[in-house]
Amino acid sequence: MTFHQRERQMAEAEARGQAALEQALTLAFWDALERGPLPPMAALEAAARTVGTLYRQIASLHGPAPRCGCGWQPEPDEDLIRLEAMLAAALIERPRPRLADMPVAGRA
Ligand SMILES: [Zn+2]
Repeated sequence: MTFHQRERQMAEAEARGQAALEQALTLAFWDALERGPLPPMAALEAAARTVGTLYRQIASLHGPAPRCGCGWQPEPDEDLIRLEAMLAAALIERPRPRLADMPVAGRA
């Protein structure tokens, strides 16, 4: 297998992993709102705060004494810019096909 084939396989595996995580988070979000409706911005604030908490948790596994061996080094300032860019892009993105059949009837 060539370097480029391996790179492409890794990128595809990452995209599949991201898609699975997005789906799990989306289902959990709508499921929670089904059980306890919240004003839309209150729900989204909770989701955004959770992403921040997840960042802090996973960064703590990669700090000066990493407990994970993947080699990632948290760069909070740069990482925040990257996450903000993802958030901004998602706000204006057209819904992707697999998200199109998510429950739009959620009482957000
Ligand atoms: Zn790691």
